[in-house]
Amino acid sequence: MKQPRVQIRKMVGYDLDELQDAVGTFIKSCRNPKLQKAKRVLIKPNMLGAHPPEKAVTTHPLVVEAIVRYFLEAGKEVWVGDSPGGSVSVESVWEATGFADLARRYPIKLQNLSTMGFRELEMDGKTLRISEAFWRCGIIINVAKYKTHSLMAFTGAFKNLYGLVPGLIKSDYHRQYPDTHSFSDLLIALWKLTKDRVTYNFIDGILGMDGAGPSAGNPRHFGLFFGSSSIAALDYVAATMMGFKLKDVPYLKTILHTEGILPSAINIPRSFRDHPSLNADLGMVKLSKDLLKHLPQPVRTTFKKLYYARPIIGQACKRCGVCVKSCPVKAIHWQDDGFPLIDTTKCIKCMCCHEMCPYHAIDIQRSLVAKVFG
Ligand code: SF4
Ligand code: SF4
Repeated sequence: MKQPRVQIRKMVGYDLDELQDAVGTFIKSCRNPKLQKAKRVLIKPNMLGAHPPEKAVTTHPLVVEAIVRYFLEAGKEVWVGDSPGGSVSVESVWEATGFADLARRYPIKLQNLSTMGFRELEMDGKTLRISEAFWRCGIIINVAKYKTHSLMAFTGAFKNLYGLVPGLIKSDYHRQYPDTHSFSDLLIALWKLTKDRVTYNFIDGILGMDGAGPSAGNPRHFGLFFGSSSIAALDYVAATMMGFKLKDVPYLKTILHTEGILPSAINIPRSFRDHPSLNADLGMVKLSKDLLKHLPQPVRTTFKKLYYARPIIGQACKRCGVCVKSCPVKAIHWQDDGFPLIDTTKCIKCMCCHEMCPYHAIDIQRSLVAKVFG
């Protein structure tokens, strides 16, 4: 039975010296020979959209700066890249998130993973396209953000791998795998295809997000910085510290089981073993989907109609059109008054619009039944 290690540091804020110390200590503990041998590094932060660091949507640039410094000092060629969601321009994402500034100050390459080609691979009966950038680097550093997620409940190191899928192919997968469980199975296939090439994982939980994540929730100071070479162990520890149970996060049980990891065997620093709950607001994302499994089919069908969370466009809409372009099933159209409207008969509740709206104008409306059972 494996006994993976998850490193955790408490941090009051984003202090570059402290971050560099943690990055160096964490990475050195993983003793992966590729860290010596490989010449090129891909640092893969969460660059979901064009949001400034204080909104806690994207990985903080100071976290990435600490990792960049570590690898430049080790003499590596450093790429920093992601494939942002929806139709936003990658240049606007780099500017808003602080990564463009990083690339002006250090000899690194910002890479748009949407435009570098891809390899198509099969896993668990699914075909997945994964950016060529991922295959061209010997060291992969996955740097996630610590957030709730409207479709997957939690987003950490595992969900951050989805940015390896180029551009609008992501939207197409949302159309093909619309609900939490089918999308979770797709992500598990992606994880199986990539996990052995991912050298190390960090989660930036210094400023994270609770409520209606991954983009419209509340920035929360959790003061935590995590690291591990095991995605499964890392997400288990980070998600449960946020307040989730194993059953709340649809992929956790499967990936722990696939890796042969018993939660009780995960090695975390002694000072965090009885860590009090972070008291995060998880109500918006914790739909008790397991409940449905235990109902007989006719009851389940009726219950599903009453038990839902769906996107609603609110007054803050600036008519930018990002949601219209991002919807994988074209369920959002323009009305005569110039505002977008969601066709609820077409909507598959993938929450991409909620995730991508740059003005946080799309709320999640939970049905009364969902509020009672959620
Ligand atoms: S809801 Fe958001 S993404 Fe859609 S048009 Fe309005 S501001 Fe843009
Ligand atoms: S309207 Fe929003 S939640 Fe519904 S299918 Fe389109 S992007 Fe997904």
